[in-house]
Amino acid sequence: MSTAAIVSLVVAILIALPIAFRIRKAARRKHWIDAPILPEWQKVAEKYFPRLEGIPKGTRKKIRGIARVLAEEKNFEACGGLEEVTEEMKALICFQAALLIAEIPKHKFYPKLRSILVYPGAFRDRGKRRFGLPSEDRGTLLGESWQTGSVILSWENVKAGAKNDDDGMNVVIHEFAHQLDQADGAADGVPILKNREAYRQWAEVFERNYEEFVEDLESRRGPEPLIDPYGATNPAEFFAVSSETFFEEAEDLKKEHPDLYEQLSNFYHVDPASWR
Ligand SMILES: [Zn+2]
Repeated sequence: MSTAAIVSLVVAILIALPIAFRIRKAARRKHWIDAPILPEWQKVAEKYFPRLEGIPKGTRKKIRGIARVLAEEKNFEACGGLEEVTEEMKALICFQAALLIAEIPKHKFYPKLRSILVYPGAFRDRGKRRFGLPSEDRGTLLGESWQTGSVILSWENVKAGAKNDDDGMNVVIHEFAHQLDQADGAADGVPILKNREAYRQWAEVFERNYEEFVEDLESRRGPEPLIDPYGATNPAEFFAVSSETFFEEAEDLKKEHPDLYEQLSNFYHVDPASWR
């Protein structure tokens, strides 16, 4: 074989390999998405995540399929004395992570996320972010999201978040909303949107709501606001906590902040206020 022929052969292989890899990946995903729900996963949904049944059928089916893909493709690591990340843990984490992206067109299964680290309960703060904890518990965390490709979760709080679906507190929704925000590289409270007009509207609505929220907290005397005050930390946290409120207290959010609800509904492509 001549040198030129060898070179063309190598080039052809280099071009064909990534294409073959992508085709195989797409086929594998399709297989998992179409596969019937595993009986043990169904049990997890019934035991820990009863709200899945109240989600419209089409979206519910997508959630199950996406959850399975996430469980197969991401690495799970047991931390802080946890013996292993069980099938039950994987299912419950992935159901909730899938809820966020179920209807987002052309979502890519959290492409930057490689590892999900699971602690048995709250874990030590590394001085970065806190999540909805009273100040006396400062120093411990229930979840974290890193741009470098990992999400860290407390299993105790994953369960609590899934079971109480109307208290606006859900660590999986919170951390995976951060992943969506970080998908474009910046943790600034702006995820990837469909066009310039969508960015313009998002900026207008979120900036105004964030500023009003911070001001309202400073002068507030009455009961706790609907949105977790932790959202006043910065725009990225405001997006993460308003996503929790959007999925867990949709009707209230729609009533109190219709413009914010509308932006989140446009982004996530769902209308949870209409869910059972
Ligand atoms: Zn956060």
